[in-house]
Amino acid sequence: MNNYDKDPVLGQKVAQYLARLGIDNPIKAPMDSGLVTQSITDLIKGLGIIPDDDSIQKTPERVARFFVNELFYGLDYNNFPKITFNHNQYGYQDPVISKNISFKSTCEHHLVTISGEAFVAYIPKDNVIGLSKINRVVNFFARRPQVQERATLQIFHALAYILQTEDIALLIKASHHCITMRGVNDQNVENITYKFGGRFNETDMKQEFRSLLGI
Ligand SMILES: [Zn+2]
Repeated sequence: MNNYDKDPVLGQKVAQYLARLGIDNPIKAPMDSGLVTQSITDLIKGLGIIPDDDSIQKTPERVARFFVNELFYGLDYNNFPKITFNHNQYGYQDPVISKNISFKSTCEHHLVTISGEAFVAYIPKDNVIGLSKINRVVNFFARRPQVQERATLQIFHALAYILQTEDIALLIKASHHCITMRGVNDQNVENITYKFGGRFNETDMKQEFRSLLGI
């Protein structure tokens, strides 16, 4: 996850904006990899496994590195992606759509994987965003302990803040491993959440978005 350009200043602004809207994760302190390492050791002990067994003794450090740098890097706004813009000099006024943005997240109730896809459309104003940056924003908010509904709102409002427009449609389709591998054990269920803003609330725009996505 470290091989992309970051913008901590923009990250702080997005954090404040989401906090004002009351939709950020309840983040209280920076991640503490020492504490995470210790907790994984405790978890292993709690499971009754000998923590200094050859095969498992490096696991706490390995898992802590994975959690802090990869699985949950989106808890740290210093990792917020740098966003590049181009001036919309050609006056493009129709929706720009990114389909099938795949992501992996983690359910905060069971700490198991959520895997899904995001579909984003927006209508540019003065600036056009570098398209891969939409993937980066989706992935930043996915890489946290999450619930799908809150992630949907965070991604929508972060994009609205960055793009300076509410003319955004976002749909998220996801499979939760807490449903597929525990509890009801349903393999096929997909959970869909969406938010339409601005012009995407107009009936014809909604229909166009849905038909372009084939839903
Ligand atoms: Zn869950």
